[in-house]
Amino acid sequence: MIAPVRRLAALCVLGAVVTGCGTGHNSAPSEPSRPSDTASPGGSASPGGSVAARPPTLAPGPAGLAPVFKNGKRAAEKTVALTFDADMTADQGARAAGGERFDNPALLATLRRLKVPSTVFMTGRWAEEYPDQARSIGSDPLFEVANHSYSHYAFTSRCYGLPTVAPDKMRADVERAFTAFRKVGVKNAMPYFRFPGGCYDRTALRNVAQAGVTAVQWDVVSGDAFATDADSVAEEVLRGVQPGSVVVMHCTRSAAPTTERAIRKVVPELRKRGYRFVRVSELIGAAGRG
Ligand SMILES: [Zn+2]
Repeated sequence: MIAPVRRLAALCVLGAVVTGCGTGHNSAPSEPSRPSDTASPGGSASPGGSVAARPPTLAPGPAGLAPVFKNGKRAAEKTVALTFDADMTADQGARAAGGERFDNPALLATLRRLKVPSTVFMTGRWAEEYPDQARSIGSDPLFEVANHSYSHYAFTSRCYGLPTVAPDKMRADVERAFTAFRKVGVKNAMPYFRFPGGCYDRTALRNVAQAGVTAVQWDVVSGDAFATDADSVAEEVLRGVQPGSVVVMHCTRSAAPTTERAIRKVVPELRKRGYRFVRVSELIGAAGRG
């Protein structure tokens, strides 16, 4: 078994290594879906009983720091949020032009076929490279788009070898991603931000707070980055999930080629165990209601 820190490191340098592309996993039999998994966003009632118009966020942290959300309530109702980081780094344009695929259409097709509400943390650079897919994700009520920075550079000085965003450029990098989303037609990106590599400190939290975002981490690492065995990725997720869990996976086929196959194992098994898939906004909304 790979040590957690190693898996996290692999997660953090996604895109740094060219790996084989996995495609052609579209032939699985369809799984039955639960109607409750397909509720449209914004349909959850606020405490006052009206339909929530704005995405739920956490209260600001102390001293002007962005709040950090890691997982939802460990409640009796079993909910779990699958999140997919659509990674592409600002300097990877030449590699994309050379044929490397940072997208994963088969994964998105499977999530749709299995009707799995999901949150996609997208970099602005990814949206620019794949504008049609970004718009398609952003206009599908099954999904919500959240912010994974424009550049996928690190927001701390040491983060697995990623290039670094200077503190006075952090807010602009986050806002540039939202601008990129709007430009390609993603209208309602959520005010949630996932730090590249998950690396943050107080300086980073203070700077991204100016962009009005809630930082979203995770409590379950799937280990899908650079994985070659879909079964072990699925086992890792199934071992880690608890009620309220946030699972981090990737929507970047060149660096996470087994994710789609792992999802085909994870989704029916978690449903069998009584879990309902939700977007991150539902977990945050429930957390905010105390
Ligand atoms: Zn990432």
